[in-house]
Amino acid sequence: MSHQLATNLARVEKLIKKAAHDARPPTLVAVSKMQSVDTVKAAYDVGVRVFGENRVQEAAEKFTDFKNEYSDLTLHLIGPLQTNKAKAAVAIFDVIETLDRVEIIDAVAAEMKKQNKNPTCFLQVNTGDESQKAGCSIADMGALLAHARAIGVTITGLMCIPPLRDPPALHFALLKKLGHQYGLENLSMGMSGDFERAIKLGATHIRLGTIIFGVRSKP
Ligand SMILES: *Cc1c(COP(=O)(O)O)cnc(C)c1O
Repeated sequence: MSHQLATNLARVEKLIKKAAHDARPPTLVAVSKMQSVDTVKAAYDVGVRVFGENRVQEAAEKFTDFKNEYSDLTLHLIGPLQTNKAKAAVAIFDVIETLDRVEIIDAVAAEMKKQNKNPTCFLQVNTGDESQKAGCSIADMGALLAHARAIGVTITGLMCIPPLRDPPALHFALLKKLGHQYGLENLSMGMSGDFERAIKLGATHIRLGTIIFGVRSKP
């Protein structure tokens, strides 16, 4: 398993460097959702330090002990957050990429104070305006960013998941433009199928699961 992971990782890192060309390569967030603790540890052993999980409960189960043991590990929340999970999310995640509404920003802010923790926060934007998808609308971004700032939550970036119906590059370019407009330096965009495009369009963080760990089995 380690050998396969090392091979996949080396291959991906090469592709990332190539896509970044002369620019600084983005942070690779290895998406370990539905992967076992053993697989996560094997990835750590071959050099992965940044992991992404989409469910708070699963992340807490897999990473609580692991993070206590290895302090150089960074964990990103890349899935939707509910207010009743804010406490656990602030406890385990270093980066929360999916803030998207007032209630969740408030809940995270309250937990940050209580736990004296300061996770890095991104705003998820529903760039395709899909009714079933998480993320704020583009129209609400200004108000949400202002609200977050007013209550002491610093949002440093944007995250998006492009709709399947569109070429992802449209959404990567749009997210980049929005980041520029609001003065946010971080852009989390690009997955296994489209990360090279995302890098060329300015991604600072790419979220890769399948291309590193292989196809996920169904839950
Ligand atoms: C699962 C997931 C990924 C990784 O997807 P792959 O296609 O396996 O690289 C990236 N981002 C989010 C938000 C995800 O839920």
